[in-house]
Amino acid sequence: MKAVVLEDKRVITYKEVPTPEPPSGHVRLQVKAVSICGSDIKRYMDGHREYNLILGHESAGVIDQVGQGVSKDYLGKHAAVIPLVPCFECEQCQRGFYSACHKYSFIGSRQNGCYAEYVDVPERNIFIVPENLSLEHVAMIEPSTVARHMLSLGNFQSGETAIVMGAGSIGLMLVQWLRILGAKRIISTDVLDQNLEIASKLGAHFTLNPTKVDLIKELKNLVGDGADLTLEATGVPQVLEQTLQVTRPRGKIVLAGNQPLDKSLPLTFIENMMRREISLIGCFMSYSAPFPGHEWTETIDALLNGSLDIDKMISHRYPLSKAPEIFEKIGTHQLAHQKIILNPEEIA
Ligand SMILES: [Zn+2]
Ligand SMILES: [Zn+2]
Repeated sequence: MKAVVLEDKRVITYKEVPTPEPPSGHVRLQVKAVSICGSDIKRYMDGHREYNLILGHESAGVIDQVGQGVSKDYLGKHAAVIPLVPCFECEQCQRGFYSACHKYSFIGSRQNGCYAEYVDVPERNIFIVPENLSLEHVAMIEPSTVARHMLSLGNFQSGETAIVMGAGSIGLMLVQWLRILGAKRIISTDVLDQNLEIASKLGAHFTLNPTKVDLIKELKNLVGDGADLTLEATGVPQVLEQTLQVTRPRGKIVLAGNQPLDKSLPLTFIENMMRREISLIGCFMSYSAPFPGHEWTETIDALLNGSLDIDKMISHRYPLSKAPEIFEKIGTHQLAHQKIILNPEEIA
């Protein structure tokens, strides 16, 4: 089969590799759509723990083979890939905290993923979906679940006011989930106006570009003493610091942006957090018990009833063979984009 293989830092190749045969307890998915995640670009640009590896974890396809012990009823079914492969045995798995599993694998970062014509996954890692859903939409279930999980962690309640810092794919999914779950006011911030335009279309009541306005002043005008919930989806240290200033006393901040590991924060940050009795909550992936969690089933419901709008989030579609070129362009900021879908079938 053809696949896109990460061979070294900044070396990614579209090439022929052996087609996986599903072992006992596994299924094989013929990949129909896979969307590019920012984390894959980071693995390409900064290097990864493991080579050679096929990346890609936001994916959908059709089950075309099953291993021993797996029901043949799965054949032909449409499914999304659930990328986290927990051990289901350790202390944290027992608690249902699967993303904290002591010995997890992850499809597309610790084992071969979905930038390929076929992917082999354990039976528990397929999420069967109704056939009337577009497989492009199904490929984007995973980023939706991350946003939905953040709102659970922040204990978001209908009628609350929320600020979403960052209008990339997670930020846009957050705006949509806040709308779906009945936020009173949704404020979206981003340095790119084109991202903010989409945020408005997806449900943000106000949008602010910090390169053009005094962000803190404008946010205070809008939310007074602060939002009930602030969601950090940029991974920028300066933005992280700002979250405290715009969250109300006893409010909550949920963090999902990966911060640069070589930076540090002044302890005034903790001081400000303490004085306002703010809860700072980390988010890692998107799982809850029973696996993979309500984040996943709710996303399907939202796709079926049309409340989750995926089309507005897709800016480009390319054949899988173009992936190396696209990765380099995104990594060097030469391609303004929202979500990009790769299609393994349109092989040049
Ligand atoms: Zn992702
Ligand atoms: Zn475990």
